[in-house]
Amino acid sequence: MTPEPQVLIVGAGPIGITTAILLTREGITCRIIDKNNRIPSNEYFSRALGLHARTLEIFEDIDVIKNIMTHGRIINGIGFYTEGKRVAGISFRELPTSYPFMLSIPQSDTESILETRLNELGVFVERQTELIDFVQSDQFVTAQLKMPDSTLQTHAYRFIIGTDGFRSKVRELCAIPFDGEQYEESWLLAESYLSRDFPSDEANVILSKNSSFAVVPMPDGKIRVTGPDTSSKRDIDDIDLALFDSALKEMGALSNINYSEPQQVTRFKVHKKLARQYRKHRVFLAGDSAHVHSPGGGQGLNTGVLDAYNLTWRLSLVIKEQSPLELLDDYEIERRHAGEITVFGTDKAIQLLSGTRSPIRKSLTNMILPWLMKSHFGTQLATNMSQILSHYRHNFSQQDTHYFNCSIELGDPLPRVVPPIDIAGDPLKLQPNGKFSVLIFTANMNSHEVNKQLSKFMVALDKYKSLFNVIQITNKQAANVPNVEVIHDNAYFIHKAFGMDEPGSYICRPDGIIAHRNKCVEFVSILNPFLKSLFIRYLPNYSSLNNTAEKTKLVVNNV
Ligand SMILES: Cc1cc2nc3c(=O)[nH]c(=O)nc-3n(C[C@H](O)[C@H](O)[C@H](O)COP(=O)(O)OP(=O)(O)OC[C@H]3O[C@@H](n4cnc5c(N)ncnc54)[C@H](O)[C@@H]3O)c2cc1C
Repeated sequence: MTPEPQVLIVGAGPIGITTAILLTREGITCRIIDKNNRIPSNEYFSRALGLHARTLEIFEDIDVIKNIMTHGRIINGIGFYTEGKRVAGISFRELPTSYPFMLSIPQSDTESILETRLNELGVFVERQTELIDFVQSDQFVTAQLKMPDSTLQTHAYRFIIGTDGFRSKVRELCAIPFDGEQYEESWLLAESYLSRDFPSDEANVILSKNSSFAVVPMPDGKIRVTGPDTSSKRDIDDIDLALFDSALKEMGALSNINYSEPQQVTRFKVHKKLARQYRKHRVFLAGDSAHVHSPGGGQGLNTGVLDAYNLTWRLSLVIKEQSPLELLDDYEIERRHAGEITVFGTDKAIQLLSGTRSPIRKSLTNMILPWLMKSHFGTQLATNMSQILSHYRHNFSQQDTHYFNCSIELGDPLPRVVPPIDIAGDPLKLQPNGKFSVLIFTANMNSHEVNKQLSKFMVALDKYKSLFNVIQITNKQAANVPNVEVIHDNAYFIHKAFGMDEPGSYICRPDGIIAHRNKCVEFVSILNPFLKSLFIRYLPNYSSLNNTAEKTKLVVNNV
C-alpha cells in the first residue's frame, strides 16, 4: 500500500517550499512542516539578497517569476573600489540567459512569494511541527513529529527530504558527517535607508585598507553592507556607523549620500561545510542541510534551488513507479559535486574580502584585481555566479557516440541560443514544465522524409507522450505531425550551436540537462536506449523482484 502523503519535507525555508512546489505540480502528494512559527513576510531579518540567472530560469518554470521580478531590483554587475575609485567591474549583461542580471530581493519576499504559489497548488505549511525521529525500512520511512499541542504523531512516507537548514535534524538522524569548519572571523551585516536612491545598478565590493565590504542596493531604497568584522569593538551598537562610514567613503563619488540609522545590524559566523552524503536510503538532504558556505557571491539559496530541481523529477518518476529506485543515485553524484564547487568558490571569495590577510597580500590583490576582472576571468566569474553553465559532465563521461563540433557536452544545461538581430530565426528557449524535451534537428531533410521519420518517432513515444515535449528545429518547412512544436532556424544558427551539421536529436531531462544525443536521420534510434536507461517498463521482471539488490543488478545489466 502506498502511504499518503508520499513525501515528508522537513523545513519550510526557500528550498523546502521550492521542493514542495516541484513535487506537487507533478502530482506527488507531500506534507511540509516547520518547527518554527515564522511567517516570511513578517520577518525583519532576511538572509539571501541575490537571486542569480539559473534560479530565475527555474522560478520561471514554476510560475513565480512575475511576482519575483516585481519585488526585486535588477543588478547588472559588480563594481570594485579601492581608495575611493572604481578600479574594475564585471557585468552580467552578456550572459546567455533570459535573465542577464542578479536580482536583489530579500529572502523573506522570495519565501513569501514561493509560499503563495504553494498555497495556490493546495498545499499549506504546517508550522510549529517538528521532526523528532524516523526509522527506515525497505519500503517506507516512518517519522515521529511533535505537533503544535506537543503531542507526538507517527506516520509512514515513501521518502523524507531534509531541507531543515544548517543544524539539520534529518542529517543528524542519518548520522551523516558535516565536514568542514567555521571561519575564525565574524561577519557584519547592516541595512540602512538612504537620503536618495543609490545611484547604481551595481553591487559594489570595496577593498579598503583595513577591511572589505560588499554594498548591495535593495529594492526598497535601502542598501545592505556586509563584510568581515575587523573592528576591535565587541559591542554591536558601537560599530554599526563606523562600518557604514568606512564603506561609503571608500566609494568616493557616492559619499555625499546621507544614510539613516542602520535598521538592522547583525554579527554572524560563517562556515564552509559539506555533508559527506546527500542521501541515506529513502532520506535526502537539500539546501543548507547539505552545504553551507560564505555569503560571498550569494550562492547558498541559489545552489539549494538547483538541488531541489535535480531531485524532484527523479522522485516523481520513482514514486509513480515509472523509473527504478536507482534513478535516485545520481542525485548525490551530481549535486554533491556541485556543492563541492560552491564551497571551494565561495572560500576564494571570502579570502578576497577577508580582513585578516596580510597587508602585502591585500596590496597585491588591489593591484592585480583590475587586470584580472578585465580578462577572461571576469566573464568566467559572472558566469559561475549565475550558475547558468553549472553542469554534470563528470556523470556523463564516455557516453557520446558521435562527434559534435560545438562546445556543448552531455551533462550541460541546455543553452539558450538567440540568433543575432541580423539573422532570421526563433530563439531557443525551453520551459520544461516537468517534462523531458526532445530537440529534433531536421537539417536539410526534405519534408516527406521529415514527416515520415517524425511520425515514426511519435508512434514509438506513444506510451510516454505525456512526459515529453517534442520540438522540431528546422531551416525549411515545419513538419506536419501532431504534438510537435516547431522552432524556425532559417540561418542554421541553432543547428551550428549544437554541432548539428546533419540530422539528429538531443534529449534534455526535466531539469534542463542534456542527457542523450545522436546524429541519425532515423530519429527513433535515440529513443530506445534512452527509455531503457530510465523506465521500468523496459526492464523485464523488475516489478516482480522483491529484493533491492536483485533490482539494482537488473538495472545495471540493462543500462
Ligand atoms: C547573511 C547571509 C546572507 C546570505 N545571502 C545570500 C545570497 O545573497 N544568496 C544566496 O543564494 N544565499 C544567501 N545566503 C544563504 C541562504 O540564506 C541560505 O542558503 C538559505 O536560507 C537556505 O535555505 P534552506 O531552505 O536550505 O534552509 P533554511 O532557510 O535555514 O530553512 C530551514 C527551515 O527548517 C526548519 N527546521 C529545522 N529543523 C527542523 C525540524 N527538526 N523540524 C521541522 N522544521 C525544522 C527551520 O525552522 C527553518 O525554517 C545568505 C545567508 C546569510 C546568513
